[in-house]
This record gives sequence, structure tokens and C-alpha cells, in this order.
Amino acid sequence: MMSQETKRFIGDLNLAELSQEMEALGEPVYRARQIFKWLYQKGISDWSEATDLPLSLREKLNRRFIIRPFELETCYESRDGTRKFVFRLRDDNFIETVLIPSGERRTLCLSTQVGCKFGCVFCASGLPGFIRNLSPAEITGQILFVRHDLEFSLTNFVFMGMGEPLDNFPSLAKAIEIMNSPEGMGIAARRITVSTCGLVPGIKKLKELRLQINLSLSLHGPNNELRRRLVPLGRRYSLEEVLSACEEYAESSGRMITLEYVLLDGINNSSKEAAQLAKIAHRLKAKINLIPYSPVPGLPYQRPAREAVEAFRDWLKERGAKVTVRQSKGLDIRAACGQLAGHFLSPK
Ligand code: SAH
Repeated sequence: MMSQETKRFIGDLNLAELSQEMEALGEPVYRARQIFKWLYQKGISDWSEATDLPLSLREKLNRRFIIRPFELETCYESRDGTRKFVFRLRDDNFIETVLIPSGERRTLCLSTQVGCKFGCVFCASGLPGFIRNLSPAEITGQILFVRHDLEFSLTNFVFMGMGEPLDNFPSLAKAIEIMNSPEGMGIAARRITVSTCGLVPGIKKLKELRLQINLSLSLHGPNNELRRRLVPLGRRYSLEEVLSACEEYAESSGRMITLEYVLLDGINNSSKEAAQLAKIAHRLKAKINLIPYSPVPGLPYQRPAREAVEAFRDWLKERGAKVTVRQSKGLDIRAACGQLAGHFLSPK
């Protein structure tokens, strides 16, 4: 008997790899598709549920593969309906996933790493430092748990939780493949958004997937000096490099880029920055998503007053930019943008 420790996560295998595994086990290759259906369409959490597989195969699978890569540690529910799930990974690290209902939409905000390397100065996710990458199973597992074990139906998927998705590209790409493929979850690429703090080689790799995935750039500073100060990765890749990578992405994917811009009172919200931001949006034919800062304990930044947020939005609009203000949800449970820290800062 194999011990728990030597079992692998079934979700770390794509369809091609699972097919090879079937061959190695002396099973017909079509079993791989059958297993995919059980895992990603029916959402089983135990091999005994896969009732059309022969018992001998279920037993083999059970000896070799784990279906759920983590367990639910806690769940918080905000007054505004946002829910935050804290998952305990098998190595006792924690990740957080947020479900954001808004009108007809139910968006799931997914984590890709435990901690983060990039240290944007205003963000909580970088505070514990970088711990590790999530595996593909730990990424898709967030969807499976919420959709099947907790039975929430979901419409949109954003890689805006803990970590930098493009810094964990192999896992991200495999997770997206399983999410998007008809044999897997069958989620349209247009319902998936990847957000990055500007990892240029990653943007290029994402382009090579040739999918209509939405790309959001966490810009935050509309000139090199300010961007370097707020997003340290701006020291490695200049604004020009990052913008031209986004421009190429928009052209090849046919999707409109979103520029995310956190509003930090007195730091990046003057009319001068609005003018610079509008110019960038115009060049990229991008839309702008303003995010009034969500306070993080111990960090010295403040959210501007409502009037200041509106003034900044109006300066952008006057210059012809498409702009929305993100109503950051789940503030009372530390589930808002940039507040996820995997239990490091969780409430109570
Ligand atoms: N690493 C990726 C994914 C994180 S997405 C990225 O940087 O894009 C989370 C978004 O929330 C990013 O735009 C991030 O810069 C922003 N953010 C971080 N901390 C925040 C805070 N305290 N308040 C509001 N937005 C914040």
C-alpha cells in the first residue's frame, strides 16, 4: 500500500498526462476522458463516486491519487455577501480564495502562490514574503471546492488573489488548460482574467497560449519614477517595456487590456497623474479600473475621500478614458483587493 505521502494530486495531470498514466496502468486510454468528466464536470471528491469506472480502476486510482489537495480551514462572510475561504494546504500553509457576488455575476478570485516575491509597497500579500508556488491542482482545486463541495455556481474567474500568477507560469498554464478545455471545466477564456504587476516575460508567454484570456495590468504609477516606488518590479522592467508587451497582448488576443490603478491618498491621485494615466489608456485602448485603497494594518497608506476618488475619475473621463471604480468588497473580513495574506493577517 502506498502511503498518503507518496500519493499525487490527480489535478496536477492534464488530459495528455492522464492518458499516459492510463496506459502505464494497463487501462484503455479513453478512461482518461471519463475520469476528467468525473473530476471537472461532476466534481467528485472521492473515487467511490466515479460509479462507471470498474472497481479495480477506482482502487488503483485511490491508491495513487488524491482528489482534493486541501481542506477548508475557515470561511468568513461579509455584510455585502462576499465570502472568503481559507484553505489549509497539505503542508499546513494557507491560501485564500474570495467569492464576489455582484448582480448576475459570481466571480471567484483565485490565488496562485503562498506569499509573493514582488513586494508592492501597499499590498498585504507580500508581507509574509514568498513561500511557494501552488501546483495546478491547488489552483483548480479552489474552483472545484467552491463549485461542487459548497455548491456555488460561478460565472467569472480572476487570478487576483495571493501571488503573482505569471511568476508561476507552468502551473497557471496547466490550470487554465484544464479550466478552458471542453473535456475539463469548459470555461470560456473570456471569463478568465489574469492580473499581473508587470512581469514582461510572463505577458509574452501568456500571449503564446493564444487564448482570449483577459489581461489586467497593475499599473498604479503612470510614470517610471512613481511606478518604481510603488511596484518594485518597475525597476526591472520600464514602463515602456511593460506597456509594449501589453499592447502586443491586446493585438494578438483581441481582448481589451484593463489598467488597475490603486488610489493612494496624496501619492498617485493628483490631476497630473490622471493626465498621464489617460494618455497610457488611450495608447493601449485600455479601460481603467480605479481601486480605492483597502487599508492594510501596519502600512502607512490611506484611501482618498470619496470626493477625491470622484475627482480623479472625472479627470480621466474628461480626457475620454473608459473608467470604472471598483467597489472593493469584503473589507470587513479582509477579503478586499490586496488584503489577502493567507491567515497571516486574517481577522480574529
Ligand atoms: N500579483 C497580481 C495579482 C494580484 S491582483 C497583480 O499584482 O496584479 C490584486 C490587485 O489589488 C492588484 O492590482 C494589486 O496591486 C491591488 N492591491 C494590492 N493591495 C491593495 C490594497 N491594499 N488596496 C487595493 N488594491 C490593492
